[in-house]
Formats: sequence, C-alpha cells, structure tokens
Amino acid sequence: MTHAVKFHPGLMLLEQYVEGSLSADVALAVSAHIDLCPHCQQLSHDITIDQAASLGEQNVSAHDEQQDWQQMVDFITSQPGLSAASVQRSNALPQVASVTVNGRTFEIPRALSRLAEKHNKWLQLGGIATAKLPTGEKQHVSLLYIDKGTEVPNHTHLGLEMTLVLAGKIVDENGEYGVGDLLINSPDDTHTPRTLADEDCLCLSVLSAPLKFNKGLTRLLNPLQQFFY
Ligand SMILES: [Zn+2]
Repeated sequence: MTHAVKFHPGLMLLEQYVEGSLSADVALAVSAHIDLCPHCQQLSHDITIDQAASLGEQNVSAHDEQQDWQQMVDFITSQPGLSAASVQRSNALPQVASVTVNGRTFEIPRALSRLAEKHNKWLQLGGIATAKLPTGEKQHVSLLYIDKGTEVPNHTHLGLEMTLVLAGKIVDENGEYGVGDLLINSPDDTHTPRTLADEDCLCLSVLSAPLKFNKGLTRLLNPLQQFFY
C-alpha cells in the first residue's frame, strides 16, 4: 500500500532548503516532499548537523568558544530536528487538512495544510482541475487534480516546473510517479503526463513560468496556458 518514494529533490536543492536560500514556493514543494519522504527527512537532518558544524568552524577560534559552540550544537542535534517543526504545526492545527474535488477528499501534508485550506476556487477543464494557492510569491503554486484516464497535453516548460504527487499516480514518458515523488522539469524537458485508467491523482504544482503546449489549435493555446499557470 505505502509507496516507496523514488524521485527526490537532489542534494543541492536539499542543502539550499536547509540553509534557507530557496524561494518560498520552491521551499514549500521541498518541505511537503520531506513530509512524505523518510529518506529526505534523514538527509535534511544530517545536512542541518553538517551546516551547523561548519558554521562553528568558520566562526569560532578560541578554545572556550569552541566548547560553548560544541555544547550548543550537541543540544540542537539532540533534539528531534526537522520533525520539531511538524510537531509545532500539528499542535496549532490538530485536524489534518483535506481538500475535496470531483467528489473525492484528499489528505494534505502538514507543510501544505494551512495554504491548501485557503485555496482559490477549482477551475475545471475536462478531467483536469486546478486551484491556486495564495502564496504571494513569484512562482505560481496550485493544486492540480487529474481524473483517472486523463492526459495533460504534451508540453515543454518556459521555466521550472515542480510537481509533487500528493495522492494517486501519474505517468509520463520518463516514468511512473506515486505519493511523495517530486518531478522537476526544466525548459529542456517535454512530457505528456497522464493518469492510469483506474486511478485519479492530486498534485502540488509549482511553476516559475507558463507551460508551452506543443500540439492543438493555436487559438486554444492561451486559455490552456492560463489554466495551468
Ligand atoms: Zn525524498
């Protein structure tokens, strides 16, 4: 039943996430992935320890300060790490957030709960529905629902596209993605994501620029771009 996560953010992205240098929207997708991925929970915990230790080496020369620093690092790392943030959130927000679309209700990872509850109206086009999340950042963040047996038209990307599977499964030319899998597509990538015949899918989508659809009538291009962006 539990899906083993296969597609992860990559070490550099995780390092940037831990040091806090990612834009808020990209960080949101990474942090929701971490909620769903034990492997990256451990990895980001380890990176946190590494970064704290190297900060210590850079900033401290005197022996006493070194000891103080070591004590502080020991104290920080003896705590539960990343999960501490989730625990705080769960205290503030006892119920697990969920969203309902197409008569189906999906649970949402904690990192997304607050935002997901404030999603805009679902816009529907055939078997696909999108709802913007009000992040106020440069990237466009939305929930993307794809009904079973539905295909998103073949497209390339004018910028970065991050898709995190929250429920169900999608497949494209490069593989099959289940809950927790994070797909990262850049302007060079072309793909045709679709659901399987018997399972629908809910994703988080982070886009830094519109999609570019490769087929179909030109007059449909703009509405379609706006729909996904
Ligand atoms: Zn992972």
